[in-house]
Amino acid sequence: MHRLLEISTKALRGLLYLITPALFVSGCGGAGNSGPTTYTVGGTIAGLAGSGLVLQDNGGDNLAVNRGGSFTFAQAIPSGATYSVTVFTQPANPGQSCIIASGSGTARGNVANVSVTCTTNSYSIGGTVTSLVGSGGLVLQNNGADNLTVASNGTFTFATDVNSGSTYNVAVSAPPSSGQTCTVSNSSGTVASTNVTNVNVGCGAPPPTASPDTRADYLLLQMTLDEKLQLVHGGASSTWWNQTQPRGGAGWVPGIPRLGIPDLYLADGNVGVEDAVGPAIALPSAIASAASWDLSEATKYGDVIGKELRAYGINVNLGGNVNLTGREPRDGRTFQTKGEDPTLAGKITAAQLRAIQSHYVIAGMKHFSFNDQETGRYTANVLIDDRSARESDLLAFEIGVKDSQVQSVMCSYNLVNGVWACENPYLLNTVLKEGWSFPGFVLSDWDATHSTADAAMNGLDQEQPDSNYFGNLKQAVTGGAVPPSRIDDMVHRILRAMFAVGVFDNPATITPIAAAADAAIAQELEEQGAVLLKNNGLLPLSTNVGSIAVIGSHADIGVLSGGADQVNPVGGAALLEGYPAVPGWAQVVWDPSSPFHSIQALAPGVSVQFNDGTDTSSAAGLGTSCRVAIVFVSQWESEGMDVPSLNFTDVIHATPIDQDALVSAVAAANPRTIVVMENGGAKVMPWLANVSAVLEAWYPGQRGGEAIANLLFGNVNPSGKLPITFPASVSQLPRPAIATPPDMTTPFPVDYTVDGFNVGYKWYDSQGLTPLFPFGYGLSYTTFSINNPQLTATTSGSNLGFQVTFDLKNTGTRSGAEVAQVYLGLPGSTGEPKRLVGWQKVPLTAGQQQSVTIEVTARDSSHPLEHWDTGAGVWTIAPGTYTVYVGNSSRNLATVGTFQIP
Ligand code: BGC
Repeated sequence: MHRLLEISTKALRGLLYLITPALFVSGCGGAGNSGPTTYTVGGTIAGLAGSGLVLQDNGGDNLAVNRGGSFTFAQAIPSGATYSVTVFTQPANPGQSCIIASGSGTARGNVANVSVTCTTNSYSIGGTVTSLVGSGGLVLQNNGADNLTVASNGTFTFATDVNSGSTYNVAVSAPPSSGQTCTVSNSSGTVASTNVTNVNVGCGAPPPTASPDTRADYLLLQMTLDEKLQLVHGGASSTWWNQTQPRGGAGWVPGIPRLGIPDLYLADGNVGVEDAVGPAIALPSAIASAASWDLSEATKYGDVIGKELRAYGINVNLGGNVNLTGREPRDGRTFQTKGEDPTLAGKITAAQLRAIQSHYVIAGMKHFSFNDQETGRYTANVLIDDRSARESDLLAFEIGVKDSQVQSVMCSYNLVNGVWACENPYLLNTVLKEGWSFPGFVLSDWDATHSTADAAMNGLDQEQPDSNYFGNLKQAVTGGAVPPSRIDDMVHRILRAMFAVGVFDNPATITPIAAAADAAIAQELEEQGAVLLKNNGLLPLSTNVGSIAVIGSHADIGVLSGGADQVNPVGGAALLEGYPAVPGWAQVVWDPSSPFHSIQALAPGVSVQFNDGTDTSSAAGLGTSCRVAIVFVSQWESEGMDVPSLNFTDVIHATPIDQDALVSAVAAANPRTIVVMENGGAKVMPWLANVSAVLEAWYPGQRGGEAIANLLFGNVNPSGKLPITFPASVSQLPRPAIATPPDMTTPFPVDYTVDGFNVGYKWYDSQGLTPLFPFGYGLSYTTFSINNPQLTATTSGSNLGFQVTFDLKNTGTRSGAEVAQVYLGLPGSTGEPKRLVGWQKVPLTAGQQQSVTIEVTARDSSHPLEHWDTGAGVWTIAPGTYTVYVGNSSRNLATVGTFQIP
């Protein structure tokens, strides 16, 4: 061997020994080649990392190379001799392999085109990411480059080219949510010969500005399975009806102090805060809110409920009954609903729910769905097709969900098409969560849960009020029947709702309710929601009328309220009756507001006398002796029962009072008889022709007496409109007899395919029936005209819809408000009668005229132009002729025009 070569080879070997002695392959020799010419084999090594590479020429002459770059064999290879370069030893990095280009050939002078390429070294910097939340993921950076986005918790690895001995530096360049801080442990160091695995990234709590989803996920990451399961059911025992829940509500879910998760206190509040919580302002029936046809009044309604719930420290409201009343007007809960039309009911409910949630109380909608009768409500099996379902009861819920961002929905007791509502995948998953993108949680009605895994997998997120079934979820998870991801989804929905509404950020301080202010609103709501059904000119009453007989319904001391989600009125009930003799659930509560005293107060010069109406002839006697008779008739309704008929039927007293006979007798005695009705839904009135005036006061709330007096004397001009149809008789109903259960446990059919999507006025229109009072109807002490209606339609493009513009004029002599209503007739191919698509309540002084525009856009949550295409599973607009109507009831309409959809 050439001395020079020997020296340089030894020198290299020595160097390699110093660096990676274990890798050095010793004992190389190689064919000596002396001569005047020194040939070299040269080339480039690329991508070499690790602790070394040993190359060999022709089976000897090993050369260790430690870095990429050029190499040279100082070895004599005569021109014309063959050479061969191979990788004798791979670099120390596991898995690294090297390829030689032109590794053999015949030397012609120096050989310079041998190159060795080693595959990129896969050193990695790995570690664990914890507490990672947020949709943006986390962006990590190594040495200022090599960004890596980490989308969820777990391990991460930089497949980066970092050689042993070099430094690394891991930084968070973008946290998962804005404002969230993340810390990195072992964020910098020197890479040893093995991978770096102890870099850990942990992100702190997202700030309050982060999205509710991000904040919920962060908490979820910290929770044990047991803690998660604690949130998916109520904390009551299985004999909850014998228990008082914390803060007195209907339910309670204990929080997790370790993580700052507050308790949930659930309470009813449909017509005011429920009695078990404490005294509250008894509002007029929710159906009166719908009868105002006024979203700003509905907002005030929700405001009172939200404010008072919060004052009591309640953070979940079980209100929002939006079951449609048109299918079964005898339903015992009609007073809690918003009527029979899905659009009106949905919009009024949405306004209430938005207001409730503005007070940091999670609002709710119920009972999802088709809980339209109370008879056999635990076993009723509602039969209905997809299109009818979507276009009726479900549409009211859809509008509510989409327009209000309500965060809880209560599933109902009944079955729908053979499946319990609280484990019904069609209702809970397909329609509510997937179809409407509902982000909140589904809670069961009280003991409406029927299974563990089925209910959880089919969409129920929280069992209430106890844990009869969801107490077994842990076994369901360990046994594989419910995946942990579904538990996470349930908990995420609950926590998300709490963040979205502000339950975390705005803990309640328990304070007295603002009773005086709320009572004033209760009165206004009644004044705006009462409906004048008949008036032959006797109303408004003159304060010089001389004498007035006030008869019946405890009008000397109070007004009636409904027996579900019962309110304990501030000041105490005027009278409690009935319980437990009545068929319903609650005591009969007469709210403390006396129409008799209010009438006296407004007409101090008039002789006002009271008769309790229990003796028809004595009542008629008083009626005869007075100039005017006002008969108060009342119909108590309750959860857990339906009313036996549409007549005023006394279900309270052991000896029932025949109120129809009472009215008839008084009307026969005095033609100037006015009837004031306190009830929750549609009624038939056999005496209608014989009385002078009828005011539908609904359950008027605890300032009902004052409101009724104001309406009767004209201090307030009635402006309510019926949100329901009053049938002429039960024979007009789609189901003249209420379906009844055979026993307490066997599901029994309630057939809604009879009326399908034609609920309420649509049924009367489709059947050509003339009701007693149509939907949308209501009188005023003034008159209005609608003139010059114009239609502008956009029939293609993304802004599909139309506008109706008209002049609305108060043609009478008093101020008043009219509800102008727009209806749309769809093409005949849809098989649908006309539907309400828009309205506006307009106050006008005597003689005043105003141009009004009502705009209807196809994209609205109420699907005004669309029908449900069951085959395609989408809302669709049928081609054909659309007819637009405007008027002041569903049966008093003028055609504005038509438009064609191609
Ligand atoms: C009713 C619900 C109510 C719940 C809690 C049930 O009986 O159907 O409307 O929210 O009780 O009080």
